[in-house]
Amino acid sequence: MIKAETVIGLEIHVELNTETKIFCGCKNQASKNPNEYICPTCLGYPGALPRLNKKVVDYALKAALALNCEVQRNTHMDRKHYFYPDLPKGYQITQATKPLGIKGKLYLEKAKKTVGIERIHIEEDTGKMMHRSDDTDIDYNRSGVPLIEIVTAPDLSNEVELLEFLEELKNLLAFLEISDLKMEEGSLRCDLNINVIDQKRGTKTPVMEVKNLNSFKGAVKAGLYEQKRLRKALGKNRELTKETRGWDQKREETKTLRKKEDSLEYQYFIEPEILPLQLSQRKIRNTAGRMPELPQQKRVRFKKQYDLPDYDVGILAKNPYVADFFEQALLVCYAPKRISNWIMTQLLSEMPKGLEGFKDLALKPKDFGKLMTLIEEGKVPKKIGEKVLKEILITGEDPERILKNRNLGKITDPEEIQKIVAELVDQLSTQYPELLKDYQKKPDKAMKFLMGKGMERTGGRVDPEKLRESIKQELLLKFQQKEY
Ligand SMILES: [Zn+2]
Repeated sequence: MIKAETVIGLEIHVELNTETKIFCGCKNQASKNPNEYICPTCLGYPGALPRLNKKVVDYALKAALALNCEVQRNTHMDRKHYFYPDLPKGYQITQATKPLGIKGKLYLEKAKKTVGIERIHIEEDTGKMMHRSDDTDIDYNRSGVPLIEIVTAPDLSNEVELLEFLEELKNLLAFLEISDLKMEEGSLRCDLNINVIDQKRGTKTPVMEVKNLNSFKGAVKAGLYEQKRLRKALGKNRELTKETRGWDQKREETKTLRKKEDSLEYQYFIEPEILPLQLSQRKIRNTAGRMPELPQQKRVRFKKQYDLPDYDVGILAKNPYVADFFEQALLVCYAPKRISNWIMTQLLSEMPKGLEGFKDLALKPKDFGKLMTLIEEGKVPKKIGEKVLKEILITGEDPERILKNRNLGKITDPEEIQKIVAELVDQLSTQYPELLKDYQKKPDKAMKFLMGKGMERTGGRVDPEKLRESIKQELLLKFQQKEY
């Protein structure tokens, strides 16, 4: 295979989580019942008038600013005409000629590369077709759901950068709280534009568009598949035409959906029913001023403020719920590295949904902080702490209450320890009559045995030094009572 450069750009559709749809009052919500949230406007009935939802503009503006875009203050919506059963109006309202945001960028820390954002624009989603063996159903619940489309420059060179970009973008959008970002449910969708260039020979393939990518893994696999296919074709000087291809998840390959010849002529014109969009300087300034701290800024601050390694910071600042949980727990127990370790190991290993699970966690950060304090102060051994954590994750109970109710706390009362040891030595000296004699001959061996049994009996809840001292005293007492 030839050595050729791969060039990848992305088109990402993000469904916005506004209460209502973009041009009508219908609920913007997923439903198991098809066509539950529809009206004449989102069904495109003649005469129905669209009204632009202001929240959509606010959300799109937030995204544009977060991606360092230049905001176009005077813009408008366009009609994009095409015929498809999921689009009953016969056109989609979008921003074709003057997108809200242009010339943005997103920096990738691992790849050490800035990826250009060519544009961010507002548009409406279409309905959804559900194909069955002999029939097709159409669900218009998604008709008129607000979207932003983010188009990157062709700045990505391989699948590693592709994955980092998608993750970084998703994390950034999560902090803006403008979308559910559920790829599997279609609220985050991406298409790839990919071609390969052989600089040495001065040849290149046409750009292929790959659609139907419903997971990051799928995007990476499709990128790799297409790169290989294009390099092979370029190596063999095989003529290719520009195509829209679909990713077949089951067969793990791309296949032709449309050839360039069938490419559509959209006949754009300005949407006459919606007034032009005018954004004041003040609005832009206010939105910029109310921006949450974004992952990149958070990573820098966490690193500096809490003196944490890059790896920790990378995970903690990935998701707003995790970042928040971490800082809330610190208010109760200021041990950044310990808290970070516990979040990354014990806590995450118990969470099937991973970082996303922090959103609806039964464990409150203040209770997590409390538990960490108990461990930090040596009142609860780590092993017990792990048990308690598992329990709070299910019940959401207070850690101290769990320790008390389950008798899991450290035994610190000397009398209680002495009592346990007395019982233990009594029992063991009956069970192993040689034990006390052995203690005189080989004290270390017998002590080791007794210590082991003592720890076992108390579930490791006694400080070993205190236990040893207690056993010594008990044996001394025994020797005084009996003569050996
Ligand atoms: Zn509607």
